[in-house]
Amino acid sequence: MKALLAVTRRRFTKVVGLLASLPFLLALSTPGAEGQPTPNRAPATPSAAAPKAPLDLDPPAAGTKVLLVTGNDYPGHLWRQTAPVLKELLEKDARLKVRIVEDPNALASPKLKEWDVVILHFMDWEVPGPGPEARENLKRFVESGKGMMLTHFACGAWDNNEWPEFKKLAGRVWFGANGGRQHDPHGKFRVDIADPAHPITKGLEPFETLDELYTCLTGDAAIQVVAKATSKVDQKDYPMAFVLNFGQGRVFHTVLGHDTRAYASAGVGELLRRGCAWAAGVEPGK
Ligand SMILES: [Zn+2]
Repeated sequence: MKALLAVTRRRFTKVVGLLASLPFLLALSTPGAEGQPTPNRAPATPSAAAPKAPLDLDPPAAGTKVLLVTGNDYPGHLWRQTAPVLKELLEKDARLKVRIVEDPNALASPKLKEWDVVILHFMDWEVPGPGPEARENLKRFVESGKGMMLTHFACGAWDNNEWPEFKKLAGRVWFGANGGRQHDPHGKFRVDIADPAHPITKGLEPFETLDELYTCLTGDAAIQVVAKATSKVDQKDYPMAFVLNFGQGRVFHTVLGHDTRAYASAGVGELLRRGCAWAAGVEPGK
């Protein structure tokens, strides 16, 4: 049953992917004003067709070194739009120096250990997650006392068949293929502070956001929920941000951040800045 659902999900995604690429395909086949094909017309939306920037994994000389790892998403998420916005809002804390790398396989680099925090900002179930070398390198990185942060879709960066240990590292992971629902319909909701004593959320007020309220996370690692929201569908509370320790390292995981509209909420920005600082081992909110 599970395998069948996984296949169904994959097929659904392929249909969505095909639909997403339709404007591009139409652009290729539609004659231009002079009646000629226009094969070089740019895609209507950012797509994988655009060139990726070369990897630069040499960390900055000073500040808290934050490596934002992105580079793929399924068509419902647009990393090319969200990654720069995420970088910008994190750098409102002047201590945080954020570098975007557009290839999840960067996690395999020996230079990873030169960074303070890694942000996972990718997920595409049509392609495998980064392989064993990247997984082990990331695990060693966190275990050794570094920080990891996950945003929204990254809770599904690897599925359980690929890397069962990801569940321990991330605390909770996406489990949308269980036949149940995955999130509330996209819309406005209030995020409440679940732990007002935690350094990340100390002094923060509840805030409104426009996002997907994830309801399908699974896992049994010991986590500490710092922010939560109440589903309008079943009136239950779900974690919106939580922390855990893995080895000597710190993990800050938030399921907020479906698109740039979610990042427009001032409360989300503050929560992410503080969570990133905490994961880096520096005092949040300074
Ligand atoms: Zn989403």
